[in-house]
Formats: sequence, structure tokens, C-alpha cells
Amino acid sequence: MTELAGKRALVTGGSRGIGAAIAVALAEKGADVAITYERSVDRAAEVVRAIEGKGRKAAAIQADIADPAAVKRSVDEGARSLGGLDILVNNAGIALYARIADASVEAIDALLGVNVRGPVLAAQAAIPHLPTGGRIITIGSAGAERIVGDTGTIYFMTKSALHSFTRGLARELGPRDVTVNLIQPGSTDTDMNPADGEFSDFQRSLSPLGRYGTPEDVAAAVAFLASPSARHITGAILTVDGGQTT
Ligand code: NAP
Repeated sequence: MTELAGKRALVTGGSRGIGAAIAVALAEKGADVAITYERSVDRAAEVVRAIEGKGRKAAAIQADIADPAAVKRSVDEGARSLGGLDILVNNAGIALYARIADASVEAIDALLGVNVRGPVLAAQAAIPHLPTGGRIITIGSAGAERIVGDTGTIYFMTKSALHSFTRGLARELGPRDVTVNLIQPGSTDTDMNPADGEFSDFQRSLSPLGRYGTPEDVAAAVAFLASPSARHITGAILTVDGGQTT
């Protein structure tokens, strides 16, 4: 399928899990794809090989999304290596769990730095590159819709911040015909939240479908929002959670 032929995409946190599946799905549809990663050099190289195996151009760029200078460098480098940038996918994220009563300042800062400031700065760096028809797609969390348990509040709060980020940036970039949307996965089988983890049966029980999502389930929604068919969708929040928040 070549819906995204000629498009160039950057996926933050594309070395594993949901980001890796997004990178491969975009390549499958014809896009050239650069990914960023923090530590997983080998996993990032595997994703590059998978993209190249689909006949697309690929690049892997080490960049801690909590480091403002590294974010700008990685977006510029991604655009340079692909010859431009049409699609930014803000996927890199971390989950740390603690009650508000117990959360350390370091944990709060880490969550805000990676999950909130990261996407804002990546978008800021991408804006000068994005042409008419450009796309910014951010990965939030269904936890922003429904708090489950009492240790995820700060993580979910960082994902709620992405609602205003998405809607506000959709207004800011609409006149340039760049769309900005948010996808909110529910429980998705990755290193962050394995489907055989301690609380996985409970999470499955929240879904009317009775199962975890796969990274590919989320990637399919990203590929749709990146496609020309989604040109009139902006400022939208799409929850891909098997109905966990219904
Ligand atoms: P994951 O398996 O832990 O993968 C995280 C990815 O983000 C990796 O590529 C990692 O790079 C990268 N990353 C983490 N910290 C980074 C940093 N400081 N700088 C640059 N890259 C960094 O997580 P995932 O489950 O795929 O999650 C992807 C996104 O989906 C996150 O935004 C997460 O909050 C969201 N989400 C996940 C679930 C779920 O159930 N899995 C549910 C809702 C939302 P390295 O490989 O180099 O460490």
C-alpha cells in the first residue's frame, strides 16, 4: 500500500513497543521513517532494518527526549536524513507509579520532562519543517479518561496535559493545513505493560473485548491519521483501548 508514498516521518521512541510498530506501519504504507531512542541501540537498529526491508529509507537517532537540545537536534537530523519532514509522531513516554503522597520530586520532573515537555519541544522543532498537509500525532493514554488505581495519577496527569496541547496546537497549525491529533492507547502489550504482568488480568477485565491491545492496534490508528483520508480530522482524541473506558 502506498498511501504515504513520498512522506517522511519521525517517530520518537521508535526502538520498542508501540513506537516500533508505528514506524513499521508507516513504512508499510510507503513512508520513509526516522526513529529516536534513548538507550536501545540494538533494538533501534532492528527497526531500521525492518523499515529498509520494506524498501524505505530509515534512520535511528539517539536523543533523550527530556533534553531540550537533543530534541531539537534529533528532529533536525531526522528531517535532514530523510530530505524533509511531513509527519511527527510523539510516542516516547515513561510510566512511573507512586501515590501523590509518596512521589519524589525526581519522579514528578521525569514524567513531566519526558511525557509533556518532550512532545511540546519536538512539535516546536518540527513546525518549521512541516509542509501543507503535515501531521503531528501524539500518543497519550486512556488513563487520562479514567483513573484506575491510586498510583498512576501523575503519569495520567501528564497524558491529560496532551489534550490541551493537541487542541491548542490544532488551532495554531490549522491555517497551515497541518493536522494535530491524539491517540490514547489502553492496555497494550509492551515492555511498559506486558500482557502477562502482575495486573494484566485486572486490566483485561476492564475491556468489553476482554483482551490487551497490541502495538499494531495503535499503529493502525496512527497510520490512518497520517493518511490523506484523515485530512479533515484535527484536534481529535481517538481512544484505542478495547473499550476499557466505556
Ligand atoms: P515502551 O515499550 O517502554 O517503549 C518506550 C519507548 O520510548 C522506547 O522506544 C524508549 O527508548 C523510548 N523512550 C523512553 N524514554 C525516553 C527518553 N527519555 N528519550 C527518548 N526515548 C525514550 O513503551 P510503550 O508501551 O511502547 O509506550 C509508548 C507510548 O505509549 C508511551 O507514550 C506510553 O505512555 C504510551 N502508552 C502505553 C500504554 C501501554 O499499555 N503500553 C498504554 C497507554 C499509553 P529506549 O528503547 O531507548 O529505552
